[in-house]
Amino acid sequence: MTAPKHAEPDWTGLSASLDRATDGCLMIEGERADRLAGRLGTPALVVLPARVRANVREITDAFARRLPRVRTYFALKSCYLEPVVSAVLEAGAGLEVMSPLELDIAQAMGVREADLLVNGFGHTQAFAKRAVDQEPALFTLDSFEDIETVSRAARASGTAVSVGLRVSLPATGPGMLDDDTKLGFTWQDGQFTRALARVEADPALRVTGLLAHQLSHCVSPAVFGAHLRNVADCLARTRRDTGIRFPVLDIGGGFESRLLLAARGVTADDFAVEAAAALAALPYPVTVYLEPGRYVAADAAVGLTRVVARKARTGADWLITDLGTNSLIPVPGARFPVIPVHGADGDRTPARIADRTCAPAVIDAHAALPAGADTLAVLNAGAYTVALSHIWGPELPRVVSLDHGADRTLTDADSYRRAFTHLYGYSALRPKTPAAPLS
Ligand SMILES: *Cc1c(COP(=O)(O)O)cnc(C)c1O
Repeated sequence: MTAPKHAEPDWTGLSASLDRATDGCLMIEGERADRLAGRLGTPALVVLPARVRANVREITDAFARRLPRVRTYFALKSCYLEPVVSAVLEAGAGLEVMSPLELDIAQAMGVREADLLVNGFGHTQAFAKRAVDQEPALFTLDSFEDIETVSRAARASGTAVSVGLRVSLPATGPGMLDDDTKLGFTWQDGQFTRALARVEADPALRVTGLLAHQLSHCVSPAVFGAHLRNVADCLARTRRDTGIRFPVLDIGGGFESRLLLAARGVTADDFAVEAAAALAALPYPVTVYLEPGRYVAADAAVGLTRVVARKARTGADWLITDLGTNSLIPVPGARFPVIPVHGADGDRTPARIADRTCAPAVIDAHAALPAGADTLAVLNAGAYTVALSHIWGPELPRVVSLDHGADRTLTDADSYRRAFTHLYGYSALRPKTPAAPLS
């Protein structure tokens, strides 16, 4: 067998939630992964609220050490699970929402006013009114239509709404959204300046924030720093040309997961150092908002799965798992490192991990596993996975929250069955009478 292409990092050494027992068994928040897999069955997704709390604190504290006023808002779209959202709030962060469903979640969790940011675009009048009535810290606008919609909602509510405007600046390197994205008012052609003039002239809208979210899977503090220098320049020019200030600078999210950053030796503090340097040039003080999703949620869930089939291939065998890409969604840039539950210290051979769907999606193309490994852990499985999961093909995982040594099932086969019957029109069907047994 050939050696693995990349030397595998020691994943369990990179997260405080993971460890190895003396016999080599993977430990997740102090629980043996073999026993968890036995008790819960596979496929399972084990959610770790303690890691969510630690991640929120890590990124917030890093920026707060270097900048005077910082607030973190979790990008809810990355994970909707209640124990994750509860942990985010316990750690002192707010929520960033962009749709009626996400506003429902924020309301169910009692989140409003200073703890709430509203983003997105193409909003309906009804959504705008509901969101305005929550008096969010910022309602950030990202199209001329939305400016009109939110203005009408503000007038209907008789309140002035604190609004942000989303800007799109030229990308400063890899780990950023495309230059030609649909997101943001473009700066270079003056669209941003026109949107700002429209908002500024409206007594129902109070210009409060600038949203500069443009990173995605960013692993480079230098790319981030260069982007923030552009942002600082945009603030300074706006001030010079129009006199308008933004009391809030919303940097957005887009940082790679804490686990994958750690594998490269990068920390939240490295990004905060860049932010402090870039923002030192601002012509007036700002409150900085962060909107991390992936950084907070991704490494706060571990998939547990069994190998259900093997296919020998030259190069590396395919191991087929019972956890599927219908929940490990292959969004661009997604990475799900797969490690063995047992036998991490022995010889390992390269393996490719995939699921039972007929889609070509791969879970991990560069795993290194002991011969005969049958129970596997899928790391980095908390962000943009079950929030986007599809009810098709293989069984979806039981979702379990593991906190303070106790596990709680959130979703099981029955939840999926009920959702499935409603989604696909089977809820009205009565079960067919079973055929009489042959005697
Ligand atoms: C998706 C999104 C985020 C979070 O992105 P991550 O890559 O998960 O950190 C933050 N802000 C906005 C506006 C977003 O759309």
